[in-house]
Amino acid sequence: MNSLEIKERDRQNILGTYARNDLCITKGSGAACYSPEGRRFIDFSSGIGVNSLGFCDEGWVRAITGQARTLQHISNLFYTEPCGELAEMLIKRTGYDKVFFGNSGAEANEGAIKAARKYSYMKYGGKRFEIITLIHSFHGRTLATITATGQEHFHKYFDPFIEGFLYAEPNDIEDMKTKISDRTCAVMIEMVQGEGGINTLDQDYVSELASICREKDILLIVDEVQTGIGRTGKLFAFEHYGIEPDLVTMAKGLGGGLPIAGILFHQRCAKALVSGDHGTTYGGNPIACAGGVEVLKRLDDGFLKDVREKAAYMRSEIEKMDGVAEVTGIGMMIGISLKEKDAKQAVKDCIEKGLIILTAKDRVRLLPPLTITMEEIKEGLNILKQVLS
Ligand SMILES: *Cc1c(COP(=O)(O)O)cnc(C)c1O
Repeated sequence: MNSLEIKERDRQNILGTYARNDLCITKGSGAACYSPEGRRFIDFSSGIGVNSLGFCDEGWVRAITGQARTLQHISNLFYTEPCGELAEMLIKRTGYDKVFFGNSGAEANEGAIKAARKYSYMKYGGKRFEIITLIHSFHGRTLATITATGQEHFHKYFDPFIEGFLYAEPNDIEDMKTKISDRTCAVMIEMVQGEGGINTLDQDYVSELASICREKDILLIVDEVQTGIGRTGKLFAFEHYGIEPDLVTMAKGLGGGLPIAGILFHQRCAKALVSGDHGTTYGGNPIACAGGVEVLKRLDDGFLKDVREKAAYMRSEIEKMDGVAEVTGIGMMIGISLKEKDAKQAVKDCIEKGLIILTAKDRVRLLPPLTITMEEIKEGLNILKQVLS
């Protein structure tokens, strides 16, 4: 099929909830992908932070196809090897106590919200259920997670929403203090807001918030769905801040392209959910976990150092470009404020010239595959420079 045919069939049959770019992609390798007509694109998006090892990485393909030939699924009524292996890797690297596997970022956040509520319920009774999130946050599309999302336009049409969510101004500890009460059971944050515009939390704010939460036994949930799995140059972004959240959610980059999500439980709250409290049919699926194992194997200290160095190079090159007002985010999670050009227009113009980028609110957002080569980086930056100046 050619691009026109693919697009036409999609428009006729797929529910129109996505604002797709006017582009079909049929295959990819490394940080490059191709249209049905053979046009090549450098990818600075990783399929929104998912393809952490790039397109069709050899080791990853071997891992998931090998698992597909062995056992694709059996359900959580039985023990299997890949989910235990992936969980053990996450536990060893973080020092956390337990993992729960699900399928999407929203689902991981739902699970964390449930865990926080149950933890508080068991210790303090049913009146301590409020969860404070940050304005401009994004936590997913299910009913609880759109309610948790601190953006007004998500809070329409789907009433009644879940009760007990409050929103605080990011990087404003005084505002947070006015929202915290004896009804608060958890605070949920992104270290760098992704969909909300690549807004980074300040160290002082995070340190003070973490110590208030500790003091009052309020669980700190860090949504690492976009920031996690090496995206910021550390396995998790909270590591940059020297804090130990109670619950950490992850998804996007974890499976390297397969749907998988996880919740890390700190010792403090690892007993909150017990048999029968939570579950999901696909959770810990062997093929998705085999993908995750390969991703984590690759993300060793040397790999993460390389991510930090490539990110530093990209940031310094982008800062020098005409038309750039500010570069935000951490590591390979790059936000760009433009002086004049509209970010959506920049995306269109880049695609026109062979580079795939994203927006986040008014900013351009770059989430290159973590394995991107210097050659591919330079090729992409050249196009970006032409488009922005
Ligand atoms: C993408 C994202 C989610 C939602 O993940 P889905 O897999 O789309 O449900 C939640 N939180 C953050 C920070 C995200 O970036």
